[in-house]
Amino acid sequence: MARRIEPVCRLCRREGIKLFLKGIRCTGDKCAIERRNQPPGQHGRRRPKLSDYGLQLREKQKTKRIYGMSEAQFRVFFERASRAPGATGEKLVELLERRLDNVVYRLHWVSSRSEARQFVLHRNVTVNGRRVNVPSFLVRVGDKIEVHKADPIVKRVKAMLETLQDRPLAEWFRLEAESMLAEVIRLPKKTDAGLPVEESLIVELYSK
Ligand code: SF4
Repeated sequence: MARRIEPVCRLCRREGIKLFLKGIRCTGDKCAIERRNQPPGQHGRRRPKLSDYGLQLREKQKTKRIYGMSEAQFRVFFERASRAPGATGEKLVELLERRLDNVVYRLHWVSSRSEARQFVLHRNVTVNGRRVNVPSFLVRVGDKIEVHKADPIVKRVKAMLETLQDRPLAEWFRLEAESMLAEVIRLPKKTDAGLPVEESLIVELYSK
């Protein structure tokens, strides 16, 4: 996940939809999309009609921004998806969902993917009993992902699980909330990700 210095709400306003980049704030009435859903900048009042290329580019940008990746990182994931058997777009979504920072986010241990990245980088997660501090690490079926048992972290995760208890849990995990242990029971599908993205347009963009 790349580090950004510009205000992230601008990214949602550019795409015209909520990308959920700021955790709890995104579901409140302070969300910039709720308050002013128009593109950023002085000419931002109207959205121009997009060409085919423009539509493809926006879908790629949207996806990249949701997962907080740089162009180079995203390209690596796309290349990997295109070499795998099956539909490239669906494989791309599967690979993005399997990233360890995304898994931590999907398990509701933190409230946003950028927090999840920090969480992983600070060595707060173990996979099959070993600490992993690589946000782009890809989980596999059967992997057991756990919060490292350090006191302040456990308290923080418990508080977050309580706050986010109404949000549905991704179905490709079996989670023991109390022990903060999750097992990957199958690979994620496009429907699990629930992305507001047409991934076939990304494939068309990169196939030019
Ligand atoms: Fe996007 Fe969240 Fe900012 Fe709303 S609060 S504009 S969803 S980052």
